[in-house]
Amino acid sequence: AKMLGRNNFQYYTPAMNSMALKRLELENNLRRALARNEFVIYYQPLVEIPSGKINGMEALIRWQHPQWGLVSPDDFIPVAEDTGLIVSIGEWVLRTACAQNKAWQDAGYPPMRINVNLSARQFQQANLVQTIAGILEDTQLNPRWLGLEITESVAMKDVEFTGKMLFELRKMGITIAIDDFGTGYSSLSYLKRLPIDMIKIDRSFIRDISQDPDDASIVSTIIGLAQNLKMRVTAEGVETTEQLQFLQNHHCHEMQGYLFSQPLPAQELSSLLARGRIS
Ligand code: C2E
Ligand code: CA
Ligand code: CA
Ligand code: CA
Repeated sequence: AKMLGRNNFQYYTPAMNSMALKRLELENNLRRALARNEFVIYYQPLVEIPSGKINGMEALIRWQHPQWGLVSPDDFIPVAEDTGLIVSIGEWVLRTACAQNKAWQDAGYPPMRINVNLSARQFQQANLVQTIAGILEDTQLNPRWLGLEITESVAMKDVEFTGKMLFELRKMGITIAIDDFGTGYSSLSYLKRLPIDMIKIDRSFIRDISQDPDDASIVSTIIGLAQNLKMRVTAEGVETTEQLQFLQNHHCHEMQGYLFSQPLPAQELSSLLARGRIS
């Protein structure tokens, strides 16, 4: 134990110690990962129902660590956010996804939008809009094929500052989506103050939609809200035909989930892209 103050003792248990060490190891590894080219993007289709047409993809990062194997974003994005590394990682994701989309278009696949997740830290960068404009310029991708996913807390944080950026991005032709809708703040006022094209209903509401009447009414209310506000609405985490049926009955026509496809590496998507639809 180490004495901190008169009555304050802080105990370092072996468990805490190894947790701190693990985090430090993670942080050091993460710092090198970009230079070593260890990140990969998996893409998951956003599917129009009932046609089955692929409306777009969401870009989801993974870390192919030489010893640890494929690391999920939930295990390293929080540390990347704390350390600020998310800014350069996020830029890499944007650049790679835009380049991949352009390559698919050049290969003759039907054009579609790719959505990229943006973290709060990226919105604190005053040059975010220039960075994105530069990436679109470098990759020669038309901005209409880029979507940005932000959470409610990012949207709410500093509505003035974030709003200015979002309006500029929207003016360029980029689509703005609210991610994990319903899990953040309860105030909905930002929906009318910000240029939002699309709402993504969090999968925690979709999971029990067929059994839980509360979830069912929350979801149908969100769908109605989006439609009244002339926004597109996408359901996340659709895994069963019951969920699909419910959503279709309630006029939600865009879905994403394991029922249609897992997120896949780019090279495994060519046959799906050639068809342009889910089986
Ligand atoms: P998210 O943005 O909400 O992404 C959707 C997550 O749901 C993904 O997890 C996806 O694989 C998963 N998912 C899709 N369909 C289903 C389904 O039917 N059932 C279930 N149980 N899960 C499904 P993933 O890829 O592990 O990503 C987790 C989170 O990590 C993302 O949640 C996002 O917040 C963050 N993330 C991923 N890539 C990036 C990135 O490039 N930048 C930033 N800032 N965050 C990212
Ligand atoms: Ca997302
Ligand atoms: Ca989400
Ligand atoms: Ca999420």
